[in-house]
Amino acid sequence: MGDALGIIGGGIVGIALARALAARGDEVTVLEKEPRLAAHQTGHNSGVVHAGLYYAPGSLKATLCAAGRVRIRDFCAEKGLPYREVGKLVVAVDDTEVAALNEIERRSLANAVPDLERIDDRSRLHEIEPHVAGVAAVHSPHTAVVDYASITEAMAQDVRVAGGHILLGHEVTAMRSETGRVRVMTARSEHVFDRVVVCAGLQSDVVARFIGADPSPKILPFRGEYWALRPERMDLVRGLIYPVPDPRFPFLGVHFTRGVYDDVHVGPNAVPALAREGYRWSQVSVGDTWESLRWPGAWPLARQHWRMGVDEVTASLLKPRYFRKARRFVPELRMSDLERTAVAGVRAQAWGRQGELLDDFAVDQVGAVTLVRNAPSPAATSSLAIADHLIEHHLAGRSSSLH
Ligand SMILES: Cc1cc2nc3c(=O)[nH]c(=O)nc-3n(C[C@H](O)[C@H](O)[C@H](O)COP(=O)(O)OP(=O)(O)OC[C@H]3O[C@@H](n4cnc5c(N)ncnc54)[C@H](O)[C@@H]3O)c2cc1C
Repeated sequence: MGDALGIIGGGIVGIALARALAARGDEVTVLEKEPRLAAHQTGHNSGVVHAGLYYAPGSLKATLCAAGRVRIRDFCAEKGLPYREVGKLVVAVDDTEVAALNEIERRSLANAVPDLERIDDRSRLHEIEPHVAGVAAVHSPHTAVVDYASITEAMAQDVRVAGGHILLGHEVTAMRSETGRVRVMTARSEHVFDRVVVCAGLQSDVVARFIGADPSPKILPFRGEYWALRPERMDLVRGLIYPVPDPRFPFLGVHFTRGVYDDVHVGPNAVPALAREGYRWSQVSVGDTWESLRWPGAWPLARQHWRMGVDEVTASLLKPRYFRKARRFVPELRMSDLERTAVAGVRAQAWGRQGELLDDFAVDQVGAVTLVRNAPSPAATSSLAIADHLIEHHLAGRSSSLH
């Protein structure tokens, strides 16, 4: 039997790590505060298996996304879970977007995105997506869609079979270092582990503070809301249609997604959430909002992006504004084609004290506690590769440095 390892968080990152550790013989216990796995980001996302188009070459996002895509594909095949390569088109709607599209193409080639195609003529564009409007595009045929909640459940089953424990409804409320080990408290239990890994998503900075880690980077929660296409209009979209993203902003922009169960979603937008786990405007946490407002980095961020913020909030509240964003790509879309869904996700995106975006995946170490500080998209795609990375670079030996 290896080390006793505690993992805080039963999203796809925590469960993928638990699976890899249990498979090598460690004694693994996952503590998850909700009554089910994948209750937050992992169960509230676009379900896309990214092929690595956007990420800075050489970054963790670029390398772990490429490795993770293949791992998720093989895992789904092994478990008989749905995996559909519907392909993705990133579309420049007019000439002003072509320079940014060229940059996406450059990065995609540097990241060795498989079978990437540059498209400059409309007939080829329409062969792929007959209803799309645009002057140029890149097409990634191996971008796929899956159901990340089911994948997490299947990984969890492997953890249990290998002798690992998954404790639901166990919210970690405190942690303490004790002569090289770590004591972890929940309202219902106490545990002592040799090593702890925090994979707490939207709460990662809160849990990091339990062990005395730097409060920076902080999670500022941004909600993404989706609309659905009426079933009789779903033939407007075959696969995935994405805008050219605004390089100043970390989110990919409102896109059309044909999901793994054949539904078509439009979204997500990006509006500030008034609670870390605030899936609607009516879910407000005074504590979370006050914490965000007191964060020094929130103000430079607000100054820099206020125009975009106002635009996103009005599009969230007024359907015609959301509709106009979506119709740029699919001119045949009618407002009545969009149905409000209850589906939304809140992104755990980390920001520094000066309001600077932490673009790449980030991990800190405090004694025997490893803290995943930033695991936004494409962390679901990358999850199995992130698990290997954590084991190789953070759990191989004992470390007491912060890096
Ligand atoms: C709208 C949206 C769209 C996205 N689309 C995609 C996509 O198409 N493709 C992609 O690859 N990625 C996508 N992502 C990103 C992806 O969902 C996340 O990167 C990934 O799910 C992160 O997994 P996680 O395990 O780190 O976090 P989570 O899934 O959020 O899990 C963290 C877990 O920690 C638990 N927890 C927190 N605090 C405690 C505590 N104190 N004690 C015990 N448990 C605790 C939470 O309850 C939660 O279950 C999207 C995200 C959003 C929000």
